[in-house]
Amino acid sequence: MSSSNFAEAIVLRTAQLTPHMYRLTFRSEFAADFTLGAPGQYLKVLAPAPGEAGPPAFDPNTYKTQMRTYTLRHVRPAEQEFDIDFVVHGDEGIAGPWAKQARPGNRILISRPGTLKFSVEEADWHLFAADMAAIPAAAIELEGLPEHAVGDAFFEILSEEDRQPVRAPAGITIHWIIKADSHAPSDELIDAIQSITWRDGAPSVFVAGEFSVARLFRTYFRKERPTRKDLTYVSSYWKLGLIEPEHKAFKAQIAA
Ligand SMILES: Cc1cc2nc3c(=O)[nH]c(=O)nc-3n(C[C@H](O)[C@H](O)[C@H](O)COP(=O)(O)OP(=O)(O)OC[C@H]3O[C@@H](n4cnc5c(N)ncnc54)[C@H](O)[C@@H]3O)c2cc1C
Repeated sequence: MSSSNFAEAIVLRTAQLTPHMYRLTFRSEFAADFTLGAPGQYLKVLAPAPGEAGPPAFDPNTYKTQMRTYTLRHVRPAEQEFDIDFVVHGDEGIAGPWAKQARPGNRILISRPGTLKFSVEEADWHLFAADMAAIPAAAIELEGLPEHAVGDAFFEILSEEDRQPVRAPAGITIHWIIKADSHAPSDELIDAIQSITWRDGAPSVFVAGEFSVARLFRTYFRKERPTRKDLTYVSSYWKLGLIEPEHKAFKAQIAA
């Protein structure tokens, strides 16, 4: 990538959705080409240091260490606008801490989006598991399900107040699991998923969140409860103790 692969995005509005999630609305020329109604679009963000107005300078030697990945929660191409829901996970990092302090008029750099490889059309029922970083992506998929869809969605959140409205068909039961310490193991989420009543037919499976949970379920849905590959999306969105470029390098290393 070079600087021409990035465009400025200006913060138009900020809203605290829940104690640990902030929605920022941006405008950018790239947003004119975002696809309305497309499932699971995500892009790379270059944010300035927390508290700075930006935009950050594009440095071809260091930008890869600063790039972070975010889901396009809503896109409004006609207005060149989009929303990103940022988890504010503490003082460490760039994007989360920046988002918490961001103000209208602040600027970041964004890439063009990519799309998740996940399809649900041929599924008979649906299973979702997401921590807060993956709620935006899971919510988009749930909103796109047909009205007759059935299944379960498990959301692991940091506090009771972090529940948020998620529009899903009536046949999808939403379960909220509170885990106040993001460093603690996800035992309750793992138990809950491994104990669900397995319905007839082929499920679609969406699991995204911390690395260790994604790794466990990648094996589980391959070996113990084999699911159709084309209906299964298991993805590590972040890793405890690693910044995003380290997490990416680690994933590449274990995949090699
Ligand atoms: C396809 C995809 C879509 C994503 N969509 C979203 C999204 O819409 N919203 C969103 O908030 N995140 C999303 N993420 C996750 C996000 O990219 C990471 O959380 C990223 O590391 C945040 O960057 P940072 O600069 O805040 O922290 P980093 O500098 O990467 O990390 C600093 C420290 O914070 C820890 N950390 C990072 N993320 C979290 C977290 N969520 N909870 C607790 N500790 C954390 C790290 O382990 C590290 O110790 C997505 C990831 C992927 C791969």
